Amino acid sequence: MDVTSPAFKENAARALDDAQLQRALGNIRHGFVEKRRVAADALPEFEQLRDEAKAIKDHTLAHLDLYLEAFCETVEARGGTVTFAETAYDARRAVLDICREHEAKTVTKAKSMVSEEIELNRYLKKKGIAPVETDLGEYILQIRDEAPSHIIAPAIHLNRDQIEADFRRVHTHLPNERDLAEPATLLGEARTILRQKFLTADVGVTGANFLVAETGSAVIVTNEGNADLTQSLPKVHIVVASIEKVVPTLEDAATLLRVLARSATGQDMSVYTTMATGPRREGDPDGPEAFHVVLVDNGRSGMIGTDFQEMLRCIRCGACMNHCPVYHAVGGHTYGWVYPGPMGSVLTPSLVGVDQAGQLPNASTFCGRCESVCPVRIPLPKLMRHWREDEFARHLQPRAARTGLGAWAFLARRPRAYRMLTGLAARALSLAGGTKGRLSSLPLAGGWTKHRDLPAPAPRTFMADWKARRGA
Ligand code: SF4
Repeated sequence: MDVTSPAFKENAARALDDAQLQRALGNIRHGFVEKRRVAADALPEFEQLRDEAKAIKDHTLAHLDLYLEAFCETVEARGGTVTFAETAYDARRAVLDICREHEAKTVTKAKSMVSEEIELNRYLKKKGIAPVETDLGEYILQIRDEAPSHIIAPAIHLNRDQIEADFRRVHTHLPNERDLAEPATLLGEARTILRQKFLTADVGVTGANFLVAETGSAVIVTNEGNADLTQSLPKVHIVVASIEKVVPTLEDAATLLRVLARSATGQDMSVYTTMATGPRREGDPDGPEAFHVVLVDNGRSGMIGTDFQEMLRCIRCGACMNHCPVYHAVGGHTYGWVYPGPMGSVLTPSLVGVDQAGQLPNASTFCGRCESVCPVRIPLPKLMRHWREDEFARHLQPRAARTGLGAWAFLARRPRAYRMLTGLAARALSLAGGTKGRLSSLPLAGGWTKHRDLPAPAPRTFMADWKARRGA
């Protein structure tokens, strides 16, 4: 996936002009947010669980090498194989080697953001192996050749009509009179196609929400059951997961699962929670003959011990983007890489470089909603601020931004001049707002007013008002 994060502003302008996308984004504003609130309110110990979840992840990250080693030992003791992949290329290559060893022609896949990160589908296709996404949203995106726009609802930017048109374009067996007017009929059509793929796939690739060191298990949650079919029907199961997914015990995984579903979709638990532990044993009625885990680093170990280590606590629930006013306005594709929203604004610069993704941590209102809902209490605004500092220190910002910040810093050290100038500016903008109290255009700051009006400020600054009231 090409990185278009440097074009965030251009991407955002297009997204704001896209009426269909704006309607689709309304589903997030009104759906996920309310569901999470109800689920969190219904569980008295929810806040305590968030503290426990944070502590589990912090403890694991502090001893990551030990838990990864323990995980490898338990997987191998149960007949599985673990491959460490330092880079995205190493990870792709490891999956390809396993597929070739088993002479695989088709691979079914259950949702895995890290496989998007390493561009697994494109690579396998180039090498003559057909990957098939089996999560409904991911399948729709695959036939559109598009990237996910949300980490748990990948096709949230699309509507029913678009999906019907795609199915009619790609599923050439479909008679015109077949009714696809309802989501259920669309689902039935996808199921017909995917059932066949499940039955004929040579290899199944899944991600993992957690890797359990004590048992060597990969835990994955879905609402469609596609991961179960992906990992149990083919002869070979490959788990592709990043290194920070490891947790010490099943008990720890259970604690994290309790905050994950509630934060993501407002469910007590996802519909399917599945554990894969090694290949099929003698006497097992089904399961794969070979079980592999590809552990992807791809820059994560470099985050350990830095300001950004806390980002590795992320359990990919999506709550931060569901509550983010910037994501609500521009959607996921605007962020220009695999991970959108506030978590992407911190993680993407860590993985692709702040020189590529510096616009993302700048596209934040710092309202703090992301941090307030994050189940593992990642201080996302603080981490975005760290990226801004880093960008400034490395002279990566545009000259105008540096000059503006320099002027502000000059004034901030001179309180009298600062008060006088902000007082004058407040009065001028308040006058310019007229009777409507809104500004439709602003010289030198047209980006603010191109898509919405700016409420005019009060004629007196807070400081001036405070002083006047105290005096009174
Ligand atoms: S940063 Fe927190 S809220 Fe956002 S996806 Fe990760 S765990 Fe969820």
